[in-house]
Amino acid sequence: MPATATRQIVSARKIAKTYIDGERRLEVLRGVDLDIAAGECVAIIGRSGSGKSTLLHILGALDRATSGEVLFNGVDITRERESRLARLRAESVGFIYQFHHLLPEFSAVENVVLPGMILGKPQAELVRRAEELLRRVGLAERLHHRPAKLSGGERQRVALARALMNDPLLVLADEPTGDLDQTTGQEVLSFVLETTVASGRSLVLVTHDPAIAARADRRLLLVDGKLSNAPV
Ligand code: ADP
Ligand code: MG
Repeated sequence: MPATATRQIVSARKIAKTYIDGERRLEVLRGVDLDIAAGECVAIIGRSGSGKSTLLHILGALDRATSGEVLFNGVDITRERESRLARLRAESVGFIYQFHHLLPEFSAVENVVLPGMILGKPQAELVRRAEELLRRVGLAERLHHRPAKLSGGERQRVALARALMNDPLLVLADEPTGDLDQTTGQEVLSFVLETTVASGRSLVLVTHDPAIAARADRRLLLVDGKLSNAPV
């Protein structure tokens, strides 16, 4: 492979997703094609209910497409067993949501350490890495705070550090700034970009906010179950 060739982290072809709810069939995705290169940030925008979260879950192997193919770092995840998918998610994907989903009884460090424990790494090593990640997102003074003692932006930065714990290839962020004011949202996004795309990881960012989407390399619009290029 020539040094200039782009490595694709995700290659999705003709993804369809239909939810069946009794008599109702809801065709949420109807043929989504998407390539995400290493170190690339793609923003996905679209109305509420258009299927953005569904698409993220399929890209991150949390859910399966009804049909179509998803290659994750060269592996066809539409055909893998659940146990393999769980491993792949833990090792290679980091998720950040609109609401932080941190455990309230645990400190920042303890929350960040958790994904590492799934992979069974030594505790001391995990704590060292968690502390380093929290410092990178500007939380050196907040290592032992519980979520209730942190601001909204700080909680999202802990959630970011947790997503990075296992050094993922891909970070999937589902409206990560949706619960924050403009300034704090932009600040959190700066930390997300610095720790993902600037370090060669890929980022898929779902957002409603044009000022957030503007900072991605590409913007895609999800309408009627399909993706198209969105205007800046
Ligand atoms: P978005 O993130 O763009 O708001 P979602 O992907 O969450 O959209 O949902 C897309 C559509 O699929 C919505 O109409 C939602 O109600 C429906 N949906 C999502 N998950 C399920 C499910 N597990 N079963 C049935 N319908 C679902
Ligand atoms: Mg959603």
